[in-house]
Amino acid sequence: MRTRITNIIMTPGVTNEAHIPFVYDAEILIEDSLIIYAGKRDEAPVFEADQTIDGNGALAMPGLCNMHTHTPMTLLRSIGSDLPLDRWLNEAIWPVEKHLTDDAVRAGTDLGIMEMLRYGTTSFNDMYMRMDMEAEAVRDSGMRALLGHGVVDFDESCSDLLPNIALIEKWNHAADDRIRVALAPHSEGATTQKVMEKIRDAAETYKVPVHVHVSETRLDYEGGIERRGLTPPQYLDKLGLLEYPVLAAHCVWFTDEDIELFARKGAVILHNPVSNLKLASGVAPIAKMLKAGCKVTIGTDGVASNNNLNLWEEIKLMPMLQKGVTLDPTVVSPAQTIAAATSVGAKALGYDNLGLLKPGYLADIILMDLSGAHMAPCNDLESNLVYSAQGSDVVMTMVHGKVLYRNGEFTTLDAKLVTERASKEAALLLERAEKAKNA
Ligand SMILES: [Zn+2]
Repeated sequence: MRTRITNIIMTPGVTNEAHIPFVYDAEILIEDSLIIYAGKRDEAPVFEADQTIDGNGALAMPGLCNMHTHTPMTLLRSIGSDLPLDRWLNEAIWPVEKHLTDDAVRAGTDLGIMEMLRYGTTSFNDMYMRMDMEAEAVRDSGMRALLGHGVVDFDESCSDLLPNIALIEKWNHAADDRIRVALAPHSEGATTQKVMEKIRDAAETYKVPVHVHVSETRLDYEGGIERRGLTPPQYLDKLGLLEYPVLAAHCVWFTDEDIELFARKGAVILHNPVSNLKLASGVAPIAKMLKAGCKVTIGTDGVASNNNLNLWEEIKLMPMLQKGVTLDPTVVSPAQTIAAATSVGAKALGYDNLGLLKPGYLADIILMDLSGAHMAPCNDLESNLVYSAQGSDVVMTMVHGKVLYRNGEFTTLDAKLVTERASKEAALLLERAEKAKNA
């Protein structure tokens, strides 16, 4: 399939962190899954297209990477809202998650993928359970994802590592390489040293990244020091895990030494500002981390702590929070923010040709309508993009060269059916949990 996207403004994405470059009167040419040209329309090569997409003056940009989520938690939207974290987990989330079924996970994943596509997310990094269901949903929807089975281990049996290894063997590089698999130990506090050492060995054997929650809360940080005599990042380093690609979710409670360690080792920070605020975990020192040279990406976390998968909320909040906390409006530029939402995340997913719009790169592209009242006048497009744009401005989402969402329509998902099925599965899930509670 040969596709021409024309009549657009385009950004190739952020290639340096000073500014977001824009190309006016641009055109993008795509052959199957790859971009073959992205630039000025009048300089484009001769190209016979099978389909032409008229952008109507929209902005074409790399699709967003939601770098930390638990997609099936869409079913738990608004469950346990406004509870303190320990009560939220112990009383609201875990008692319900115990009653998940394959059908529930599939329905929740379909709903989450639909929501992400609608708001311009083209790939996501996920840790959950019953991951075969998630993988099938990613395969069938045309989405791109890095998936890991969330490994917990309290008794050194290491048995929960087995489904993660099975997932790697079955799904890594599946569906035209749209699916990749990570090792996903839940956190320092929910795993033994024994299983962490096995995970390090598996990272070596399988050459896959390690996705883990790190110092999300004060309790994680203080508990880590109490249990291991080290901060969670120091503990990962001591185990040798930081010699492998580590994708570390949250990183809220970080010392200056932790920041320096992550910068030196190249560990990737997955920043979830909305979730960290809703659960009152705190604010990660992102401005400091960027200054130290850390790789920073953004994610929504699960819907139950967000309450949605619209990454544009994180795009606005990331710089805003840092300005507010540091009392310095110059920290965290629009370019650093868009890089965190696109190119830095894409690299962290393990692809070396994703996250920019240039020849040879995978065609994960979104179109942002610029005609809304909230976007006018366009005195400064990069500032508008980060501070004024809304997720609802996304009018097209393309993954791997295929249009999956355009002008309110999904091409691989039946929106009505997906929403109905998810609502039904959520009701059944809550019913099972309620029955068990009263039994
Ligand atoms: Zn999480």
